[in-house]
Amino acid sequence: MRHITIVGGGQGGLPLAIGLLKAGYKVRLVQNRSAADLAAGKVLSSQCVFGTARTEERKLGLDLWDQEAPSIVGMRIAVAAPDGSGNKAFGFVGNLAEPAQSVDQRVKFPRFIELFATLGGDLEIAEAGIPELERYAKDSDLVIVAAGKGAVSQLFERDAARSPYDKPMRALSLVYTQSTKPYDRTCVTATLIPGAGELFMIPALTTSGPCEILFFEAGPGGPLDAFDPSMDADAQLAAIKALIKKFVSWEYDRVADAAPTDANAGLIGRFAPTIRKGTGHLPSGKPVLGLADAVILNDPIVGQGSNNAMKAAAIYLDAIIQRGNAPFDPAWMDATFEAAFRRVEASTNWSNMILMPPPPHVVELLARAAGKQALADRVAQGFDEPATIVPLFADPALAAAA
Ligand SMILES: Cc1cc2nc3c(=O)[nH]c(=O)nc-3n(C[C@H](O)[C@H](O)[C@H](O)COP(=O)(O)OP(=O)(O)OC[C@H]3O[C@@H](n4cnc5c(N)ncnc54)[C@H](O)[C@@H]3O)c2cc1C
Repeated sequence: MRHITIVGGGQGGLPLAIGLLKAGYKVRLVQNRSAADLAAGKVLSSQCVFGTARTEERKLGLDLWDQEAPSIVGMRIAVAAPDGSGNKAFGFVGNLAEPAQSVDQRVKFPRFIELFATLGGDLEIAEAGIPELERYAKDSDLVIVAAGKGAVSQLFERDAARSPYDKPMRALSLVYTQSTKPYDRTCVTATLIPGAGELFMIPALTTSGPCEILFFEAGPGGPLDAFDPSMDADAQLAAIKALIKKFVSWEYDRVADAAPTDANAGLIGRFAPTIRKGTGHLPSGKPVLGLADAVILNDPIVGQGSNNAMKAAAIYLDAIIQRGNAPFDPAWMDATFEAAFRRVEASTNWSNMILMPPPPHVVELLARAAGKQALADRVAQGFDEPATIVPLFADPALAAAA
């Protein structure tokens, strides 16, 4: 029986580990935080997963929250007036072909870890560094590093040609809230605040039930970049509300009574989007394969990381099975990573584009979507499959013809 070690139990590593177990492989999952630690810890993401990635989860039996999690049926997109008045310039609701869903990773990952153990997986709770990877590489047929933004991912070389930014492009600040007034339709609400950043409001399922995540993506040094990592969730939410009142005033009434869902409901941070080489080499020369954020780390501005992690995990699962008993050599690792990167390349390009001020044709495209439902739906569906929308964002002629 082939033996695979996966380092990192997150949105990429856990579905792959479970898929491999179900396919009859011997799997060791090395995870630095136990299920209990994850469940009791701070929020990690806003993790909105769209239809295509949800289909991949469903194939592995990982669609476990359909009854409890809010079913997100569309994208409510607005642009604030460029004069900084806090008024809305225009907006629209685009329908998703299939509902999206956001399940708090503090709920999702512990449940997946439990499932992995129930299926007979070998769970090791440990912080894996280079010495541990050397050990795994000796006793496993394949080692996959799916450690997300963990330091160990730096063993993969940064790919400068695919990484246009070498510093954080947004300061991130989110709080999971209760008592936010719902809209009539359950949508992700995305508001562009010209020259300042973006606000996302995401219906989700957290440890205590349904909630709404309020999430600012702030241009560094700009007026929304107002969060200190030492803030507790109450102070953070107070600052979020003040910024909504000033810059997105039409949403303020909905959030005026919002309260954090729990003491760990807030997250503040920033990181540089980074694409790395998919194959890494340990000091011994042994190769290891990177998966998801470890090697394809995008800014969460268009909510793609969990989707990409799931799409890549599905490709890796298939490639491992197709490999049969042949060696998992560096050429196979390179080809497997390239297949995954090509699958999510449009999402990387879109994420990187949106980090720059929108060119006039993109603002015009969104303004036209406000009066044309088919275009509004097309923009919304782009969050599920960015390859369908990137050409319009990239090419003024295609945007004008849409
Ligand atoms: C603020 C924010 C909002 C986001 N919103 C969205 C969104 O709405 N939609 C979306 O699709 N994506 C979103 N993302 C991105 C998404 O959360 C990630 O892309 C996704 O979780 C990546 O999966 P992964 O498996 O690569 O890493 P992770 O899910 O981060 O998992 C990595 C795991 O590895 C473990 N680990 C790390 N180092 C080690 C080590 N040395 N040894 C053992 N274990 C280790 C970690 O504890 C963790 O459990 C967001 C991200 C952020 C930061």
